[in-house]
Amino acid sequence: MAEADGAHRDEHRFMHRAIELASMCPPSETAFSVGAVIVVDGAEISNGYSRETDEKVHAEESALDKLDADDPRLARATIYSTLEPCSQRATPTRPPCTDRILAAGIPRVVIAWREPATFVTNCVGVEKLRQHGVEVLELPDLADAAMSMNRHLNLR
Ligand SMILES: [Zn+2]
Repeated sequence: MAEADGAHRDEHRFMHRAIELASMCPPSETAFSVGAVIVVDGAEISNGYSRETDEKVHAEESALDKLDADDPRLARATIYSTLEPCSQRATPTRPPCTDRILAAGIPRVVIAWREPATFVTNCVGVEKLRQHGVEVLELPDLADAAMSMNRHLNLR
């Protein structure tokens, strides 16, 4: 039981870290502010946030871009993202984050909220990840905090 409690605290600690990153995003009227952290063996190995390196980059993409594509640690990593990874995106030259996570071989994803139908009518990121055997954990009690920097976007 103590071990389960410890794991629970870790999940929340890293999601709070992702939320902190989401609050660093340059503001946008047309895209969500999202934060992401990649964790291996209880330690952060990379992080990213929306529009960090260019105006189109997504949080998960930015975090993955900072690691080698064949980094062996990815096979036991967890990626924390404040928002469900996208399954399609407005920039057709870049793969959706769901595809990037699958290509990286990351076995576990933790999210705080599901993508609403604001920009994409039906995000299937979670479903697609699970179909490919990725464990997806949602932390609904942190959804409000993770959405807080996106309230101006008319969420529905
Ligand atoms: Zn994305």
